[in-house]
Amino acid sequence: MTLSIPFDNSYARLPPAFFSAQPPSPVAAPKLIAFNADLARLMGIDPGETGDMAQVFAGNRLPEGATPISQLYSGHQFGQYNPQLGDGRAVLLGETVGTDGMRRDIQLKGSGRTAYSRGGDGRAWLGPVLREYVVSEAMHALGVPTTRALAAVETGEPVYREGAMPGAVLTRVAGSHLRVGTFQIFAARGDINSLKRLTDYAITRHYPDAKGPMGLLTAVRDAQARLIARWMGVGFIHGVMNTDNSSISGETIDYGPCAFMDVYDSATVFSSIDRMGRYAYSNQPDIAVWNLAQLATALIQQYDDREAMVEEATQIVHAMPDLIRQNWLAGFGAKIGLANARAEDAGLITDLLLRMAENQADFTNTFRALAGKGARDQFTDPAAFDSWQTGWQDRLRSEPDPQAVMRRANPAFIPRNHRIEQMIAAAVEGDYAPFHRLNTVLARPYDDQPDAADLARAPRPEEVVPATFCGT
Ligand code: AMP
Ligand code: MG
Repeated sequence: MTLSIPFDNSYARLPPAFFSAQPPSPVAAPKLIAFNADLARLMGIDPGETGDMAQVFAGNRLPEGATPISQLYSGHQFGQYNPQLGDGRAVLLGETVGTDGMRRDIQLKGSGRTAYSRGGDGRAWLGPVLREYVVSEAMHALGVPTTRALAAVETGEPVYREGAMPGAVLTRVAGSHLRVGTFQIFAARGDINSLKRLTDYAITRHYPDAKGPMGLLTAVRDAQARLIARWMGVGFIHGVMNTDNSSISGETIDYGPCAFMDVYDSATVFSSIDRMGRYAYSNQPDIAVWNLAQLATALIQQYDDREAMVEEATQIVHAMPDLIRQNWLAGFGAKIGLANARAEDAGLITDLLLRMAENQADFTNTFRALAGKGARDQFTDPAAFDSWQTGWQDRLRSEPDPQAVMRRANPAFIPRNHRIEQMIAAAVEGDYAPFHRLNTVLARPYDDQPDAADLARAPRPEEVVPATFCGT
């Protein structure tokens, strides 16, 4: 019995300008590392008696009904427009419509060179594949919209980076792989027919109630505003918020140099290539607005009277900072136990965050401890917490069940960077136990799990990982 995937490939039915046909390149000795059976079932995939799963998810055997393609896009990278990017190391096998009615892409990442590889080898090494598997599934469990991981395989071939590393392929699942950059490439080329076609496609697929390009812009704005506020609420730093990594569906996409912060510091940057701190934690809202402005610029090109549309588009974009603030307020309000935070509560929240920054408080553990004991111990000077707490307790008196609100809003477990690095180091030596343990614990981030207390602990000074590297 082979793996059966009920494909329905809408993107491959678009005109040829949207992609290149591209079978994955076979690898020497595929070995399955992980298969996400729950996600598979949700997607309508019958795992069957899957002897050939490693072959399928390595790209060695195409499942029936797949139409492998690489997608075209461009984008602004660190503010500079790059006229052609595209899937340089990824192949979209197709889509399924799941038992929940949701259409999802199935993409192999690290599956060999494509028409868009430029100088790259089209491959991925084990480290970034496992990082993306763990972190994307953890984000999902945390309740943050995200692409997901269906499978990971070893290729049995080396990939050359700093030295020879074990190669791997990730099977990524997404609401779609439409990016801001997918719109930008057609706009930049003046291919208005394709731009219109893409706009219709995105509306049908993601926002069927949206009316026209400006309706789409509004819907993407709302989804991205929710997303960025969710990132802020879990201390997530994406690291490469380029427009090609900004998804139309409002999902987190591209887990390259991303990381969660330990100690709260709004200027935190992990990515080794982000030397200017463009994508620092506290810059993420501004960058999301900047990226939406690039989408607006691209969408406008399809109107005959562009001048007239500039004003409408500008209004839509200019409303975004306030939307992010509203989402941020709701999210951080819940983190301190407020079921319906009001504008005047913002001061209480920012005051706590300031004190946390001044006192090297661990972001996740401080908020988690608010519903229990020990929050003050997170502060180098616990008195800084005590003096904040008085006003907070006053405010909580009018809340019906702040404890419950906080426990739902403040995870005990996040994929801490030092644990990810330790997990990768073990996997390179052939030990996948830490990888599987992380997945198991992070699937229930809001539950106390006493056996996993070590994974909730902040890094010791010698364990801190100061920088992360792009997942290439
Ligand atoms: P990213 O930084 O992952 O968003 O990738 C930026 C661009 O570089 C995309 O077009 C990728 O497809 C391409 N790329 C990244 N890694 C590789 C690789 N190993 N081989 C070919 N293309 C790559
Ligand atoms: Mg990318």
